[in-house]
Order: sequence, then C-alpha cells, then structure tokens
Amino acid sequence: MKELNITINGKAYTAPEGSTILDAVRRNNIDIPTLCYLKEINEIGACRICVVEVKGSRNLVTACVHPISEGMEIVTNSEKIFKSRKTSLELILSTHNKKCLSCVRNGNCELQKLCKDFDVENENLYEGENCQYEIDNSAPHMYRDNSKCILCKRCVAVCSKVQAVGVIGANDRGFNTHIGCAFEQELGSSACISCGQCIVACPTGALSEKDHTKEVWQVLADSTKHVVVQTAPSIRVTLGESFNMPIGTNVEGKMVAALRRLGFDQVFDTNVAADFTIMEEANEFVSRVQNDGPFPLLTSCSPGWINYCEAYHPELIPNLSSCKSPQQMFGALTKTWYAEKMNIDPKDICVVSIMPCTAKKAEVTREDEAAAGVPDVDVVLTTRELARMIDKAGIRFTELEDEIFDNPLGDATGAGYIFGATGGVTEAALRTAGEIIAGEPLAEIEFAEVRGMKGIKEATYEINGTTIKVAVASGITNAKHLIEKIQAGEDFYHFVEIMGCPGGCINGGGQPIQPASVRNFVNLSAKRAAALYAEDQERQIRRSNESPIVKEVYQEYLGEPGSERAHHILHTTYQARSQYSTVS
Ligand code: SF4
Ligand code: SF4
Ligand code: SF4
Repeated sequence: MKELNITINGKAYTAPEGSTILDAVRRNNIDIPTLCYLKEINEIGACRICVVEVKGSRNLVTACVHPISEGMEIVTNSEKIFKSRKTSLELILSTHNKKCLSCVRNGNCELQKLCKDFDVENENLYEGENCQYEIDNSAPHMYRDNSKCILCKRCVAVCSKVQAVGVIGANDRGFNTHIGCAFEQELGSSACISCGQCIVACPTGALSEKDHTKEVWQVLADSTKHVVVQTAPSIRVTLGESFNMPIGTNVEGKMVAALRRLGFDQVFDTNVAADFTIMEEANEFVSRVQNDGPFPLLTSCSPGWINYCEAYHPELIPNLSSCKSPQQMFGALTKTWYAEKMNIDPKDICVVSIMPCTAKKAEVTREDEAAAGVPDVDVVLTTRELARMIDKAGIRFTELEDEIFDNPLGDATGAGYIFGATGGVTEAALRTAGEIIAGEPLAEIEFAEVRGMKGIKEATYEINGTTIKVAVASGITNAKHLIEKIQAGEDFYHFVEIMGCPGGCINGGGQPIQPASVRNFVNLSAKRAAALYAEDQERQIRRSNESPIVKEVYQEYLGEPGSERAHHILHTTYQARSQYSTVS
C-alpha cells in the first residue's frame, strides 16, 4: 500500500494511504484520547473527544473517521483542542448522574479518567433539564442504567456487529435519545442472549452484570451450609488484570489462596468438570460417527451460544450435544456423587461458580439443570465480582503465596485447561474421541489448526481410516456465517464448536474490563489464551480419559460414559424460544 507523507505536531512521518488520522498517529506512537471509538466496531466520530487540528481546515476534525491525505499537517495537542475536549466532556456530564463514589465502574471508567485528564473541575457547569430513566433490571444477567449512558453506542455496535443479535438501539431523537430495545421492550423480554459483550464494551457504569456477591457473603456466614466454589478455566488467566497484573498472567495459585481466605469450604476446579464434558461429548460424537449422524454435532458448553441457537436457529436443536456445560456438570456431580461420598444432604451444599460469562447467571435458572432435585449451581459470580469480593475482604492479592485446589475435584488434565479458549473444546474432544476411533492413544495430541483467534477455523483429520471434518467459530456473527454456509450445503462438518464470545471464554462478558485504549490495540484474547496453552503443556496428563478422578467417578458411580446415570446427571435438554421477538 502507498505510504503518504504527513506531519504530526511539526514532525515528518509516513502512514499507509486510507488510514484514518487516529490510526496514522497511533502508528507513530502518539496517543489521541477517544471515547465512542471501538476499532473496527464503532467508528462513528460521535463524542468528539478525538478532535485534532488539520492545517487548512476551519474546524477541528474527528481523528477516528477522518482519512489522511498527502502532505496533511496534523496537530494533536493545542489549547484549542484541549478546550474543545473539555467542553465535550462538560456537556456529556450535564446529563450524567455522576454518582461516582458508589458506581461499579469507579476507578475503571473511561469518562471519569478523561474528566481527570482534561481538568473537568465543575461537573455541573451545564445544569438544566434532565431525562429520568428507570433502571432496566429485567434480564437475569445484567442491568441498564441509562442515567449513566453517554450515548457512545459501543454496546449497540457490539450487539449487532459482533454478536449478530441487535436487540438494542437508539430510541427517540434529540434530547430524548436513549438506548433500549425496540418499542421500549425490557431487555429480559427480548431475544438478548445474555452474552454480556455490551457490558465489556461500555466505557461507563451504564451497563453491569447483576451483582450476586451479597448472596455469597451471606452463605459464607451461614455455618449450616457447605460452600463449594468452582473456577472456570479462563478465570486464572484474567483475574490478575483486576489487580493491575499484566494481561495473560496465570494467577491460579493466588486465586485458590484468595478463595480459601474468603471462607469457601472447598475450592474446586471447573476444569475437572470439563474433563467429564469431554468424556460424555466424545462418547456422543463417536456414537454419531458410528451411526452416521446427525452431523454436525454442535457443542453445548457456551450458554450464550445455546441461547442464540434456541431463539434464532431452533431447527438445529437436534444437532446440539446434550451435554450440560462444565459449570453445570460440576454442580451436578457435586450434589450427587460428592454429596453421597461426603454424606452431606445436597440441600445443604451451596455451589458458587466463578465464571467469565454473564450468560452463566441465566444458565443456572434453566430447566433440566437439577440432577439432585435442587439446582446444580446456586450462585454465579463473574471474574469482576470475585475481584470486588477480594478487594472488600482486604486480601492483598498480589502478595498471596500460591496454593493448590482441594481434592477430589481439583486436579484437571491439560484438556480441561484449554476449554477457556476458542478451539480448546475441539482439541480436547479430538484427543479423547480420536483415541476411541483409533483404538489406541494418538501419537500427536496437539491440533494446531483449531488454535488461534481467527473467527472461523476448519480442519480435516484422518484417524485410522476415518475422516473427521471439524469447524470452530467464536462470536455469534462468525457462528451465524458458519451456520448459514452449512445450511446452504456449501460446507459439511462432523463436529462444530461454537463459543458465544469472540475468542471464547477468555474474552467473556464477565471478564475484567479493559478500556478501549487497551482493547483497540492489544489482542486480549490471544494473550490470555497463550497462558492457558502454556499450562496445558505443563500438565503431566493432557487427555481427559486419562484423568484419575474421571476414571474413579465412572468406575464407582457413573458407569460408562453415556450410561443412564451419566445421562441423568450430566445431560440436559433444549427448547425452541421463538416466543421472543427479534429485531435483527
Ligand atoms: S459511569 Fe463513570 S463518571 Fe459516571 S458515575 Fe460511574 S464512575 Fe462516575
Ligand atoms: S448481553 Fe449480548 S445479546 Fe444481550 S444486549 Fe448485550 S450484547 Fe446484546
Ligand atoms: S450503555 Fe454504555 S456503551 Fe451503550 S451507549 Fe451507553 S455508555 Fe455507550
């Protein structure tokens, strides 16, 4: 591509033709503040925080949408620019409720940081009439507080472009403009899939997960309850970000130590349940290979994807694996096998999950997720809620010594670890299903073709004369494209993994929120995933079917994978949800 000559703050640089001013300037290591901008997702120049001066232009221009031209002279810092950015912030604050002290995003709010950076001292400079909004608390996983919304539309763009759901948009016009569902419907009655991707895209406290930490504090103080906590595969490689540790740091040992200090009776690992998921799913897959379908087998670990499938593609329900997600399998095993082994009434066990995902908060309320007659899982916290609990308890997280999980549900194989990244479920399944098909352990257990952060990946494997075609999609827009190609007969696969969030759970809607200044330029998912694959490589046992605890539970309790008892405890059912009104 042709390089253009430009001047930035009086110095000569080059940048590729077609670049915006923002890209060209960033490429040359100069920062321009932004607020509504999300790279390749929301490039609308609405907030005017990124304004710069361009020689020859009477007005300031928005750097995120304005293209460079040959010889362009750009100024990114001047009194005029500073004043304009400050005025834009003061105007945004004129309709903002400004309750920073009690706001869930206090200290991690992009608006707050910009106000500090641009010396906004009087946040009430433009006081006047204000719109009153009810908080939308109707969805099981999140709330919307439009009194803190700055109308950047990052959530709208993510919901429609990244997630192909499009249940939110701008309602009304002018002063009354606000974000909501069509016809002012509540989010809980829309076809929202509970993925929470809008929350991690929001720069302010307008969107947040429903906080369930109070329930956990209460149960921890209740001596009649046996409180068990499980942590999803990805939490250990993201939690550290909440304590200012580098992105992609594996803090498993500190996380376990912190959970113990919070007072949980047993600190267990969802990764172990992921190994059980593989046993059941591999068995289901091999049986479909032997019985000629139905293909593709669609994975079922991601409740965001399940919600999408039930609402938008109910015709695919027969293709879904009937396996519960690892979170639910863990709860089911804890309240059946573990309860029996420990002689505890399942009603006295409280299972708390630490999940990367807001859809998991909705998943626990699904039907057919109560193997022992009580809900498999009682409370779900996101990574962010756990970080808040650790802070509140005064635990100095970064200074904790590493500790290890409790047994018997604390020692997982490498296959369980990689569940947290896109492609991980497929690779873990191939390690075990491949062995069953081949009739002997596979010499090669790494399946590099399904790794990486591409939205759609595909691969073909020959195992003992059997051809296995697999595909992996993460993020619902990618899943939608893949499904459309399969349904049009353009592609055929035996096994398809779908994760609701782009990159998989490492980038889930419940993960620590990185500001746009980071997420626009750092591949968060790749860094977080690398830590999981490194851990897989370190594990002595990397196939689920070789896990000692998996063998023990099947031997003494479940029988064979796919047995009647395994089905009762570890599998579930789905239902079409066409009663939702969809707008996209
Ligand atoms: S959203 Fe940001 S600016 Fe608004 S109240 Fe919360 S912390 Fe303060
Ligand atoms: S949770 Fe997901 S589907 Fe629901 S509004 Fe947010 S982005 Fe859209
Ligand atoms: S809810 Fe958040 S992301 Fe959506 S428009 Fe408002 S401030 Fe922006």
